[in-house]
Amino acid sequence: MRFDVISLFPEMFAVVRDQGVTGRAHKLGLWGLNLWNPRDFTTDVHRTVDDRPYGGGPGMVMMAEPLEHAVRAAQAQRGAAAPVILMSPTGRRFDQSMAQSLADEGGAVLVCGRYEGVDQRFIERCVTQEVSLGDFVLSGGEIAALAVVDSAVRLLPGVLNDQESARQDSFHETLTGLLDSPHYTRPEQYRGQGVPAELLSGHHANIARWRRRQSLALTAARRPDLIEAARGAGLLSASDEAFLASLALGRES
Ligand code: SAH
Repeated sequence: MRFDVISLFPEMFAVVRDQGVTGRAHKLGLWGLNLWNPRDFTTDVHRTVDDRPYGGGPGMVMMAEPLEHAVRAAQAQRGAAAPVILMSPTGRRFDQSMAQSLADEGGAVLVCGRYEGVDQRFIERCVTQEVSLGDFVLSGGEIAALAVVDSAVRLLPGVLNDQESARQDSFHETLTGLLDSPHYTRPEQYRGQGVPAELLSGHHANIARWRRRQSLALTAARRPDLIEAARGAGLLSASDEAFLASLALGRES
């Protein structure tokens, strides 16, 4: 897998390239990162990448030309076609299924905006998708792109070892898209609080049932939309449904 990132602040990407599990995977050659600074694709002496908005108003807008040159250079080096994703609060909300698609399909070219955003004509000519990290505004697309890269890389085979497995994570398909259950580690008593007895029982089926029920209860309380999605996809078992019904009746079993 390979990511090409177009950014005025390429040094920000050292975090995901060098640190933690994504850094280890990069060192092992499981994914590659290529950084392209639009400033290197300018032709004027000031290396201008932004200008004032037509129609007036505050702030600056990133010019189309240096961005397009940077994207074309990245595409030429990649060879094969890849999605060109613009980080934008007006884009589709990023989620685990998008991370999985990027991991499955070999990565993407990620474009990071700055200032008020980028010239619309660049978007129309070069961008295949716009992706948002959430309903808030960042000062640049870099933090959003870092999140996209991190979430996709950790899904690549061989990146997480067994103890870090993504299989138990929230939204993961083995959890049928539900939220993760609570976690506990040593000591067994912490400031007067113990650990749920099921987790100490050593009984695998009981532990699995406790975790599943915790996931169902947490998801029903916090993200009922995910329960509906799992139900719609036929991913809830009869015993899941019975447990959810007992929750609704307020008599947890
Ligand atoms: N004027 C724009 C915001 C510009 S913020 C608007 O109101 O829609 C500057 C840049 O930060 C954007 O071009 C985009 O690349 C990035 N950015 C800001 N918030 C983001 C978010 N929630 N998700 C992804 N990228 C974001």
